[in-house]
Amino acid sequence: MLNVDLHCHSNVSDGALAPAAVAARAKANGVDVWALTDHDEIGGIAEAREAARALGLRYVTGVEISVTWAGKTVHIVGLGFDETNAALVRGLADTRSGRERRAHEMAGQLAAVGIPGAFEGALKYVGNPDLISRTHFARYLVERGVCRDTAEVFRNYLVEGKPGYVPHRWARLSDAVGWIRGAGGVAVVAHPGRYDFSDLELDAFLNEFRQLGGAGIEVVTGSHTPDEFPRFAEVARRYGFLASRGSDFHAPGESQSDLGALPPLPPSVVPVWHDWRL
Ligand code: AMP
Ligand code: MN
Ligand code: MN
Ligand code: MN
Repeated sequence: MLNVDLHCHSNVSDGALAPAAVAARAKANGVDVWALTDHDEIGGIAEAREAARALGLRYVTGVEISVTWAGKTVHIVGLGFDETNAALVRGLADTRSGRERRAHEMAGQLAAVGIPGAFEGALKYVGNPDLISRTHFARYLVERGVCRDTAEVFRNYLVEGKPGYVPHRWARLSDAVGWIRGAGGVAVVAHPGRYDFSDLELDAFLNEFRQLGGAGIEVVTGSHTPDEFPRFAEVARRYGFLASRGSDFHAPGESQSDLGALPPLPPSVVPVWHDWRL
């Protein structure tokens, strides 16, 4: 069976490793088919593709787009698109803009609760000045000993109602799906189990996503708990979505799952790669 990992990050967004190092780690972990899906960024694709080619690792273009839907943040993964598509390139650049200003506001809030220097501190972990993320602040808070690990940070800081949370307006769902499809790719809902949606909201979201041409959802992901694998396999069947699998790997020792280290998709779903020439 193919080991397919279609969701992970490099230091072009909030991962810790360069794209070529992520490729090498995927290969070492036994991954056969790989996509790098940096947040709102395709700047790592050239390096990722070249590294994968040299390693004999089958490579698919990828991105994870930040979206605001009904006032909540959701993530849409795009796979197999033409990364030179002008509308996609422009849309992602627009989506990235505003992160630096947001980061200054986050740092201001943290300073107000006695944690100074967070902007500069986070910046030490940033590989791409266009993409300062909450993850970089989380690493700085761990470095300072404010929290034991990044999971603890995301319970006590940087989330709604806690210091360092700055609401942000990301891309529209229709735009994100449109950019991906317009560039010949397939749109997939990232980690649907992670959103704090009611059943009704999840249903409305998935219906709208499908209506816009969205084709898949992640079923087996490092951002789901094991009991969510069968739950979202059932959701995929019910809505007629293709199923995806990805570790959501960010950094050694930090992420829930390492590259390629997840159970296979349940046999009851149709993999998003079912009609790819692999
Ligand atoms: P941002 O795009 O700047 O809002 O940052 C979002 C990133 O923060 C996600 O892609 C994750 O890498 C990280 N993140 C968010 N929530 C959590 C969490 N509960 N535990 C660990 N990482 C998280
Ligand atoms: Mn991330
Ligand atoms: Mn995500
Ligand atoms: Mn991710």
